[in-house]
Amino acid sequence: MLYKSTRGYSEKFSFSDAVLTGIAPDGGLFVPEEFPTLNEAALEKLCELDYCSLAREIFSLFADDFTKEELDTCVKNAYADGSFPEEPTPLSVLSNNLSVLELWHGPTSAFKDMALQILPEFMSVAIKKSKKHNKIAILTATSGDTGKAALAGFKDAENVNIMVFYPVSGVSEMQKTQMITQEGSNLSVVAVRGNFDDAQSGVKAIFTDKAVAAKLEEKGMMFSSANSINWGRLVPQIVYYVSAYCDMLEKGAINAGDEINVVVPTGNFGNILAAYYAKEMGVPVKKLICASNANNVLTDFLKTGNYNRVRDFYTTISPSMDILISSNLERLLFLLSDMDDALVRGWMASLSKDGAYKVNDEVFAKLTALFDAGCCDDEGTKACIAKTFSENAYLCDTHTAVAVSVYEDYKNATGDETPTVIASTANPFKFGKAVLDAVRPGMSEGMDEFDMVLGLKVETGEECPPQLADLKGKTP
Ligand SMILES: *Cc1c(COP(=O)(O)O)cnc(C)c1O
Repeated sequence: MLYKSTRGYSEKFSFSDAVLTGIAPDGGLFVPEEFPTLNEAALEKLCELDYCSLAREIFSLFADDFTKEELDTCVKNAYADGSFPEEPTPLSVLSNNLSVLELWHGPTSAFKDMALQILPEFMSVAIKKSKKHNKIAILTATSGDTGKAALAGFKDAENVNIMVFYPVSGVSEMQKTQMITQEGSNLSVVAVRGNFDDAQSGVKAIFTDKAVAAKLEEKGMMFSSANSINWGRLVPQIVYYVSAYCDMLEKGAINAGDEINVVVPTGNFGNILAAYYAKEMGVPVKKLICASNANNVLTDFLKTGNYNRVRDFYTTISPSMDILISSNLERLLFLLSDMDDALVRGWMASLSKDGAYKVNDEVFAKLTALFDAGCCDDEGTKACIAKTFSENAYLCDTHTAVAVSVYEDYKNATGDETPTVIASTANPFKFGKAVLDAVRPGMSEGMDEFDMVLGLKVETGEECPPQLADLKGKTP
């Protein structure tokens, strides 16, 4: 299996090189030359496996330069007892046709753990196969969540060092404490005076500094990135959609071969793209429903075929979806245009020049057949958290609530009763203030973030994950 760039770069890359390089030399994203497929019998077989074995089987389809033993070690280190004490991605049934796929049972209580627990494992194996380099330096700018998930994932990874840069004025007290208390021998955390963009520009400047690169090269080191366009972050996300389908079968929510809908709270378009890949591979998915917050550039795009980032940016209570350029969309456009890299290059050039592009009728028709989309602002998000808690006794975080709300709109508008899975991307305690405000308006006033967590626990009777509860009073 080889990988090529969405923008037509001539060379092909192995899985290892795609993961180490992160982004193609022409600025495009790596995609497999063709997609492996699973027929109904193969899918049925996969459903008999536990999560680690299922992951190993899926990875073996995409990483054929890794041995079975290497993959086995990767999945065990990532998804076995230490990091995921229970089932990694349990499915919770909300109502007749509606299930929630909980993707936040990892060490940082958000779905990014699903990929960032295994990416370092992939990188450690890949760097050993590399002829030119023997050590990786990861630099990551973060607005909060990615930094902690990356630190937890790369902690003590072999032959990898990681440095995370966060804006002093841009992260919450909880997020900062999560990062600066991370233990590990190969990591550092740097506060940057400024906002997220300043941190990001600083990291880019280091990445492109020739003198720094030469120094690294001398030591056999290379820079790499852990951000969500790395192919090594996407494959692990395909696994849980297969696992979700299997769990729905097992719970009797569907029969073999039945279609399901998937709803995903979306930012950079990685998670929902993985659901689309699962469909491409043969998991029976009918509609992919893309949920956005007030930053609804994707809703408009999927409804009109016009992508336009020239609009106001909103800071919302679902901050991990506050994004106006959804980078992974490029991979979808590449597939839907039958791998026409010239078309993709044109659209991306127009996006960087004018902040907008319009896809052709053929691609738009395919988009409409596959996707539905909707959005929900902060008021709607809070109302949805309160309603889901009172009606279904289920407490969801702000991101997940956006998806629940968009799904309800979709169902009301279409009458579609297809069994549906909602991707739940964070534990509610991770966004404790907004969730507490939703279920007990006014109560958070005058409390610090750690007291809000306690308040939420008392008010809802839900369990707070120990890694969040223990943060109070913790020092670096
Ligand atoms: C990153 C993130 C998202 C958005 O996922 P994408 O793959 O970027 O679309 C949604 N919810 C949470 C909690 C996240 O951390």
